[in-house]
Amino acid sequence: MSDGNAGDRINVTFTCLKCGGHILSVPDDHNDDSPVTCKGCGNVVGTLGEVKAAALDVAAKPLNQKLDEITKRFPWIRRT
Ligand SMILES: [Zn+2]
Repeated sequence: MSDGNAGDRINVTFTCLKCGGHILSVPDDHNDDSPVTCKGCGNVVGTLGEVKAAALDVAAKPLNQKLDEITKRFPWIRRT
């Protein structure tokens, strides 16, 4: 989920709530409104914009309380 920020690696794990898969799929011609789906079962986890924001939040906010908030909103994402 790189946004062109070289060296700014974000380590997060996605877990599909339906099948437990960890691979997300976005359309080839995607933008922030594109749906992000689970590659395993096709479950839509959100828009690319939401996924990016959640990944940034999870990666940038080490505070457990904040992380709890985020993982409640986005239970399919985990900091690694
Ligand atoms: Zn799935």
